[in-house]
Amino acid sequence: MDRLEKLCVEKGMRMTDQRRIIARVLSGAADHPDVEELYRRAHAIDAHISIATVYRTVRLFEESGIIERHDFRDGRSRYEEAPDVHHDHLIDMKTGKVVEFVDEEIEALQQAIARKLGYRLVDHRLELYGVPIED
Ligand SMILES: [Zn+2]
Repeated sequence: MDRLEKLCVEKGMRMTDQRRIIARVLSGAADHPDVEELYRRAHAIDAHISIATVYRTVRLFEESGIIERHDFRDGRSRYEEAPDVHHDHLIDMKTGKVVEFVDEEIEALQQAIARKLGYRLVDHRLELYGVPIED
């Protein structure tokens, strides 16, 4: 059983074969796929899976907090397994490639800003949009 499937079971979710396949596809994805791409991959494993099922399942997983939805400004929601360890994203505006990064200085700075404003930081999202530097 992969990680996502295990989390579904722990949350008491009824796991159909199709949900299991979609969970497995999400667990195996490192590229923040959108629903269409998830559908393509799941459909290649089980041709009976419809895009409506993928939409429903992704919404269910998202509501359960086991996957995260991102909006990288290209008009389609992108998904990833809710990570154990926090990371931020840089989006290559030329190719749409998503680069994950962690920067301790930024993390500390965000905490300091929240504290200065009278808050304890519990979550944040940071997206950088860039184009490759030409030499
Ligand atoms: Zn990510």
